Amino acid sequence: MSTLLALAPMSMEAGALRRGAPGALVARTGAGPSRAAAGLDGHLATARRHGVAAVAVAGVAGGLVAGMVPGQVVVADRVLRPDGSVVAELASAALLAGALRRDGLRASVGGVVSTTRLVRSDAERRALAESSGALAVDLESATLVEADWGRPAAVVRVVADVPGHRLVSPRTALDLARGLSALCRSGPGMQRWAEAAGRRSVILAGPRSYCAGVERAIETVRRAVERFGTPLYVRRQIVHNAHVVAELESAGAVFVRELDQVPEGATVVLSAHGVSPAVRAEAASRQLRVVDATCPLVAKVHTEMRRHAARGDQLVLIGHPGHDETEGTLGEAPGIALVEAPSDVARLDLDPERPVAYATQTTLSPEETSETVAALAARFPLLRGPSVSDICYATHNRQEALAAIAPRCDLVLVVGSATSSNSRRLVEVAERLGVPGHLVDDEAGIDLDWLAGASTVGVTAGASAPESDVTRVLRAIESLGPLELTTAEVRRESVTFPLPQEVR
Ligand code: SF4
Repeated sequence: MSTLLALAPMSMEAGALRRGAPGALVARTGAGPSRAAAGLDGHLATARRHGVAAVAVAGVAGGLVAGMVPGQVVVADRVLRPDGSVVAELASAALLAGALRRDGLRASVGGVVSTTRLVRSDAERRALAESSGALAVDLESATLVEADWGRPAAVVRVVADVPGHRLVSPRTALDLARGLSALCRSGPGMQRWAEAAGRRSVILAGPRSYCAGVERAIETVRRAVERFGTPLYVRRQIVHNAHVVAELESAGAVFVRELDQVPEGATVVLSAHGVSPAVRAEAASRQLRVVDATCPLVAKVHTEMRRHAARGDQLVLIGHPGHDETEGTLGEAPGIALVEAPSDVARLDLDPERPVAYATQTTLSPEETSETVAALAARFPLLRGPSVSDICYATHNRQEALAAIAPRCDLVLVVGSATSSNSRRLVEVAERLGVPGHLVDDEAGIDLDWLAGASTVGVTAGASAPESDVTRVLRAIESLGPLELTTAEVRRESVTFPLPQEVR
């Protein structure tokens, strides 16, 4: 049984697909909408008879947008008529494009518009791009994807002619050869997409996604943009999430690494991870207006460190070197020793006869730090630790929720950015329980090989990942076949933090 039915208008396209996806069933539709329509019933019958898992319309196309190059792949997220009306929306596009990119192809996600005749001139291309918003033009996709296939469908078009290259010119043969080569190389990705297709269960962990500190930090930047105008400077990523940062950048926020990149007298927002007193002093010396979005739970750790230091304790921080939060806490008192693992404790140059006080990075749970704390207690009998109320509720809750569902899953997807410490910890929770876990920013990060054979998928999100990214991941999984979705909520969260005074 073949898993993929690939529909190619012309024989040279069908040949490229047969070479690239030898396990696929490849059928020729004929070029143009009339031929495609005439053969449609036959192709539908083929799909049923062979029980194919998924259908891909694939071939070469014309590029509509300046800057496109022959061999560039467009995976359609929508198929359009020239007036911009939508014939079909194809939710698998980002998943499939991600697979093609991993195979080294230049793949974009966008609209494909189907016309009734070849588009030859640049003026026609421009007009079509404007009226439809599409990236590529072909003749057959609208006719073929309008049909009810009853299984996942995709459109993969490789650009052969592009703006600036006339359709019939000395370059045509070379451009076409590039297009067919890329079509052939798209075959394995299409095949993997079809192999991942099928019915699936998803268990959503609850709580997941934004914590109160992250919500407060993002709202602080939005309000600061409204109140103080743009450009509004933000030191470091306000929260560790690529989509959130991009959205705030488009609203006028300018992210900088250090304050020397902020013009004197400008307004700067300090991120949720907190900063050391030295950064505040620098802001004052440069006469910056400061809006402090430090999470109150991080601020509480800073206060505790200062209190221990004032008492004369020797200080230890358990955390990851180089993390924004760790850097800020280390700056609260001179000589704070940083340890990451139990093995670091032996090299600490501290007096065991005197009190030692420790704090932990807020995104580390008590379970993760227990061995390091035990090693500290064994070496330093006068060890003082933080009170239970200093532990971040969000980190603990997200890990507890994932641990409750992971044993029922074949695969766990954690939505979050690689820079997010608490998201990476969630992957470790899954793996400690023997379940493969992967961190994805969004659906484009999902490797189709993970999904093949995974009938139950657990989904959660780090405290800095928006719920909209979770929805995108769920839609992408659903695009592969019927989805049974359940939510397993271990507890409700009702924590909120007031906004900084400057933006209330
Ligand atoms: S994870 Fe915890 S410490 Fe970090 S911002 Fe969220 S609530 Fe604050």
